[in-house]
Order: sequence, then C-alpha cells, then structure tokens
Amino acid sequence: MMSTPSSFADLGLSPELLAALSELGYETPSPIQSACIPNLLAGCDLLGMAQTGTGKTAAFALPILQRIDIKKRLPQALILAPTRELAIQVAEACQSYARHMPGFHVAPIYGGQNMGLQLKQLGRGVHVVIGTPGRVMDHIERKSLDLSHLTTLVLDEADEMLRMGFIDDVEWILQHVPTTRQTALFSATMPEPIRRVAQRYLSDPKEVRIKSTTATVTAIRQRYWQVSGLHKLDALTRILEVEDDLDAAIIFVRTKTATVELAEKLEARGYGAAALNGDMNQVLRERTIDQLKNGNIDIVVATDVAARGIDVPRISHVINYDIPNDTEAYVHRIGRTGRAGRQGSAILFVAPREIRTLRAIERAIRQPIEPLVLPSKQMVADRRVAQFKEQIVQVIESEDLDFFMEVVDELAEEAAETDVREIAAALAFLVQQERPLRADGLSDALPRNVDFSRGDDSRGRDRSRRGDVREHSGPSQSYRIDVGRAHGVAPGDIVGALANEAGLSNRAIGRITLFDDYSIVELPSDLSKETFNALSFLRVRQRPLKLTPITRQGKRDTATKKSFDRKKSS
Ligand code: ADP
Ligand code: MG
Repeated sequence: MMSTPSSFADLGLSPELLAALSELGYETPSPIQSACIPNLLAGCDLLGMAQTGTGKTAAFALPILQRIDIKKRLPQALILAPTRELAIQVAEACQSYARHMPGFHVAPIYGGQNMGLQLKQLGRGVHVVIGTPGRVMDHIERKSLDLSHLTTLVLDEADEMLRMGFIDDVEWILQHVPTTRQTALFSATMPEPIRRVAQRYLSDPKEVRIKSTTATVTAIRQRYWQVSGLHKLDALTRILEVEDDLDAAIIFVRTKTATVELAEKLEARGYGAAALNGDMNQVLRERTIDQLKNGNIDIVVATDVAARGIDVPRISHVINYDIPNDTEAYVHRIGRTGRAGRQGSAILFVAPREIRTLRAIERAIRQPIEPLVLPSKQMVADRRVAQFKEQIVQVIESEDLDFFMEVVDELAEEAAETDVREIAAALAFLVQQERPLRADGLSDALPRNVDFSRGDDSRGRDRSRRGDVREHSGPSQSYRIDVGRAHGVAPGDIVGALANEAGLSNRAIGRITLFDDYSIVELPSDLSKETFNALSFLRVRQRPLKLTPITRQGKRDTATKKSFDRKKSS
C-alpha cells in the first residue's frame, strides 16, 4: 500500500471539497480514504475491504463528486446500497460533501417510497443516484433511469447485499450499465460470491485492505458478561446505571418480538427506549433513529437487520443482549459505536452454552474480549449518591432559592428542636423514594428516573452546566393538542412545529400519540408561560394546537400505553 498522505489536499481533492471537509471537521483522511481517493480519481477500478466505521463513504463519494460534470444533468454515478437507511445516509453524505458545488443533485431511490416522487426527482436531472438494488432494477426496466452516461458504479456493503439476497439483482444491474464505467466494490468481508462478482465485473482492480486492527475495533472496548445469578434484564439495568460515559445505547436481541418486549420493560423502568425492527414501517424506523440521534430517546432495542448501517455518533454502547448468530454479525453490531473517532463500548451477554461462540468471535477479531464484573448494588447506590449530590449542587448554583429558604426557615421555627440539617435529610429521603440511594433499598431490577448522561458529560452534547436543570427534567407531562390523524397530521409535523416554530429543544419533546381527532404529546411540565402560549396558538395543518395539560393520574397511563411507536410496531 502507499504511504499515508497526511492531508486531504495531498490526495488531490478540489478546493470546494476541501472546504466542505474542513467545515465538517474532517481533519485527516482515514487509511481507507488515503488509499482509495487517488486511485478512484485516476479512474481505476477498486476492491476495498474495511470494517464499518472506517470512512468508506467519503472514500468513494469524494472522487465521484470531483469527477462529476455539473453541467451534464444526467446520472454519472450510481451507488448501490443494501438498505433504504444506508442509501439515505450516503445521499446525505454526498450532499454535505458537495455543499460548495452549486447545482449538484443527488437522489436516493429505494423500495417503499412513492414511485411518482422518485420519477419526478430523476426527471429533474440528478448527477448521482444512490439506490437499493430492487428499486434500481425497477427504474432501469421502466427506462426512468438513464444510465447511458454513467462513469462510476459503486457497490457499498457488498457482503450485506449478499446476506440480504440481493446478489442476483446486483449482477443484473452490473450487466445493464455501460461496460466502460469505473467500478468500485466495498465490503467488510470477502466471501466467495463477492469475490466472484469482483473478478467478473472489475477490471484490473486496485485492492485496498484495511486491517481491522487499524480500524474501529481498537476504539471499541469489548467486554462480556457470563450470564449467571441475575436475570439478563436486571444485569442490563445495573450496567446501564453505572457504566461510565454512557450516552446512548443500542441493544441487540434475536427476534422482532424481543425488541418490543425489552424496549417496553426498559421504558417501564424509566429509560427512554424504543424498539427498532423490520416490521416497523420505514417512516417509523427513521423517526426512531432520529429520536436517538437528537437525544429524545437514549436506547434502541434492535434486531440485526433493522440496525444495519445506523450511523449515530452518540451511540456510546452496543449491548449484545442476545449473542449474535455469527462473528460477522458481531462485527457489524459493534461497528454501531466508536463512530467518527469516538470511543465506544461493546458488551456481550454470554449464556454458559454460548461460550464456544464467544471464543469463535475472539478468534475472528483476533483479540480477547475481557470479562465484565457486574456492578454490585453498593456500586449502584454509590453512583446514585454521587449523582444526587451533583444535582443538589447544580440546583443551588442555578436556581433562585429565596422562597424555598423561607419555607425551610419557617419549618425550623415551627417544629421545635428541628434543625436545618434534619430538614435537609428528610427532603433527601423524600426525593429518593422512587430511586433509593441506599444499597439495601435497591431491588435487583432498578427503576431509573434520571438521565444517565448527567454529570461528567464531556462529550460535547450541548448542555451548559448552569441554568439547564429544567431541560434535564425532560418531557414529563402529557398535553392534549387539537390535531389528530383525521387532520392528516404525522408525528413528524408535530415535532417539526414544536421544534422549529415554538423553539422547543429536541430533548424536551417526548412521545407523540396520535388519535383520530386529537393527539397527546409529552413535554416538560414546567413550560414557561410564553412557551405555553406560543404553543397554544401554534398551527399544525391550519389548526391551532390549543395545548391542554392532562392530569397526571390515569390518563397519562393510557397515553403511554397506546404510544404511537408501539401501536405501529405491533
Ligand atoms: P463506513 O462506511 O466505513 O462504515 P462511514 O463512511 O459511514 O464509515 O464513516 C463513519 C463516520 O466517520 C461518519 O460519521 C463519517 O462522517 C466519519 N468520518 C469519515 N471520514 C472521516 C474523517 N476523515 N475524519 C473524521 N470523520 C470522518
Ligand atoms: Mg458505509
């Protein structure tokens, strides 16, 4: 392989692209980018092998963008991706790299999306098309996708396409595009059928192989817990409670039903969790991923298929609640964390009879996975006490407490022989009832009511130390709003209105449950008067929202149970 150039400029990229990269915070090219970009710019075919998270998208997208003739509004590059999510992600990446290339157009095309919309998009003229194999075939057959000017074809995540049974479609497409094109194939692994496709359709390809040890895997701390004593769920909640640097987690389970069950159990314990599985429609899946991205939820419980390719930088933890079926799946799963140069953690639950699978995984990744010692109740309690103290300090720093001090003084005077320390202790006792501070007060399954990323959060989620205690309380009150399904509203419209027009932060917006002629949204209970009024007059689908709080008892429960997410996913 070639020596590693230290900057994108050394790779021969245009000033427009260099400007975009620096704005995106890409400082140096990753190894796969250094190796691929010059070759692709030179027009060579290429076979690239690298794990997820190594930066393959930019490795092929940047040279494509550089070679595009903007004046020619015809597809010049086609990128095949295994799933809709990945197609969209790659399209978004292209769009952001091309931000200084006015007139550039990219279209993701995938199954499940309205054909008319795609036809319109294609008709308008695009330079780069990113599609899933089936839908690309459709368009080729309908002649709505003109590939006669194609100069570059990329197969991204080829091994995934094989696993998903798309390999015949891919070959069909390869046979229906001009043979003079440049072709690049990227894959994390190189199973025989992929190698055959490469041999057959790539001409004299440059081979680039990035060893997994230089890729993400080293940025991911991998541990396993041998299931014993506690139930997996109880072990999970303990881990979630004391893990350092926990921001967001993706939890893998074997079945679709298990995603829903586990997400519900976590929710019942106070976590912001949602299921992600192949039964959910695409819109809902995307919304769930967005919620994870923007911090509305912290945990997604997913199956392998549904989680494929998710790129959410704040995922700090991957938890393999059920052991994956094979080592490749393991590598794909843990690649969901340690993104964009961050640290990540992977935890694997291993039942006694699964020890052999664990050893096979260790052999495949060529590194040992360290055993994890489950946190004791005492450790959980210590952590809670620390968080509690920090919370108190924060309130003292940021809230106006004059009124409350008067109340305390009054109390100290009224109740003879009560000193302020005793009053404080009584308050601490009251506050911790739902979430006990003492180890002996803890049950095995721990309820949790606070945000786990509070405290030593140095990883750039934009929370100021002061003055945002209210934000931390998150959505805690259900409100009724006067728009519902019958008015043609989708949850996205409501989120959009609340966030964009009323200026609510994403963290403040909780579940949205649609009914026929009204909906329930969860928002902070302590909305300021101005915000409340602004929201009441806010219009969605031409209807004022008329925000009304719902009393906590009873109704709130029904709202939660019939939550939009689960309704749709069941
Ligand atoms: P892969 O396709 O290999 O799984 P991606 O292309 O999705 O990896 O990149 C993973 C993450 O790393 C993305 O969030 C991307 O924006 C980021 N990234 C890629 N290249 C760089 C770079 N040179 N510097 C910083 N971040 C990068
Ligand atoms: Mg990728």
